[in-house]
Amino acid sequence: MSASQELQSRRDAAVAAGVATRGIYAARAKNAELWDVDGRRYIDFAAGIAVNNTGHRHPRVMAAVQKQAGQFTHTSFNVAPYESYIRLAERLNTLTPGDFAKKTILLTTGVEAVENAIKLARAYTGRSGVIAFGGAFHGRTLLGMALTGKVIPYKKAFGAMPPEVVHVPFPNAFHGVSVRECLSVLHTMLSSSIDPERVAAMIIEPVQGEGGFYIAPPEFLHALRKVCDEHGIVFIADEIQAGMGRTGKLFAFEHAGVAADLVAMAKGLAGGFPLSAVTGRAEIVDASPVGGLGGTYAGNPLAVAAANTVLDVIEDEQLCARAVEIGDIIMARLNAIAARQGMEAIGEVRGLGAMVAMELVTDRTSNDPDAALTNAVIAEAEARGLIILPCGTRGNVVRLLPPLTTPMDQVAEALDILEAALEAAINTLASA
Ligand code: PMP
Repeated sequence: MSASQELQSRRDAAVAAGVATRGIYAARAKNAELWDVDGRRYIDFAAGIAVNNTGHRHPRVMAAVQKQAGQFTHTSFNVAPYESYIRLAERLNTLTPGDFAKKTILLTTGVEAVENAIKLARAYTGRSGVIAFGGAFHGRTLLGMALTGKVIPYKKAFGAMPPEVVHVPFPNAFHGVSVRECLSVLHTMLSSSIDPERVAAMIIEPVQGEGGFYIAPPEFLHALRKVCDEHGIVFIADEIQAGMGRTGKLFAFEHAGVAADLVAMAKGLAGGFPLSAVTGRAEIVDASPVGGLGGTYAGNPLAVAAANTVLDVIEDEQLCARAVEIGDIIMARLNAIAARQGMEAIGEVRGLGAMVAMELVTDRTSNDPDAALTNAVIAEAEARGLIILPCGTRGNVVRLLPPLTTPMDQVAEALDILEAALEAAINTLASA
């Protein structure tokens, strides 16, 4: 029995079944590479689910965390606050889009940032409703799963959802869902189902992550901004997956030139340490009663030290430009593969910066999803030493999330593996 197999059987006996896991048991990792407990080497284009934008264990991030560990690792910001938290807040207030006074709260996980953004919107407006979008992913807590626009597996077994959360379709050119149609549903909903004056917030991912890497058209974000302004609704950008340089700008909303009232961040913010943030209009962030926000670990000093350094690294290593460079290489290669005979299963290649995906279909006329092929491609890639993830509400999208620090020869190596994996998966399924 290999070390991985042994861990798999211990995992099956000891760990909750509801946590989905792969069979890659990590031993160590460096930048874009990861080695498992059996010594297998992988190129890691999952990046810990869009977290390691600065790679695994960036040397500057490690040094900052080690330095902090030599001073203090936890005091709770409520009890004994520290300068590094304040500095990070000041920096996020400056870096997030929007020419207005801003404030920040630090938290621990992505969904906590989402929940706190909604709490702030509720406190500020005195209203409780929330508009979210079909296919969205906002997390797994009670409110997070209610906001998430996908029933299986996120909501199915978990009882009643919090009330006054409604979902509007997200535009999807590939499947023929236009911006116009989505806006029409929104307006119908506001006149027939939910009083806009009861709506505290609207929350949207500028590029849907788990939902399938669908990019919100700029005109859609502009139109939503207008609706929010008309009705006094707080507009929240969930930049948890698309933010921190991933799409070629620090925040994906910047591509559209729209500023949200609140921005939720996590993942890439702290280069592998648990940290999230909500930054936005000062008067909204200040709307909570004192003591209404926070958390024992919120703004953990080690994670904050990491984040302050991640922001330096993104700037010093010009990682936004590098996201564009890597994304262009990946898009060009995937488009070339898609143009080859026998690759008709690639229905669409799409991306923004280094957030790139291909949607796999049974045929290019119906564009029906091919989830079986998607899983087979991912398994074949893993067998060849490349870690990639699926996404999409119908499980038929392969997403690539390379660290923005991936050496170019490893980008090329990963794309060679991906092409071989596609060929193998298509052949295997064709002969099955
Ligand atoms: N929002 C988005 C857009 C995400 O991609 C995720 C995580 N995949 C979350 C929220 C939830 O983050 P976390 O898992 O850290 O709670």
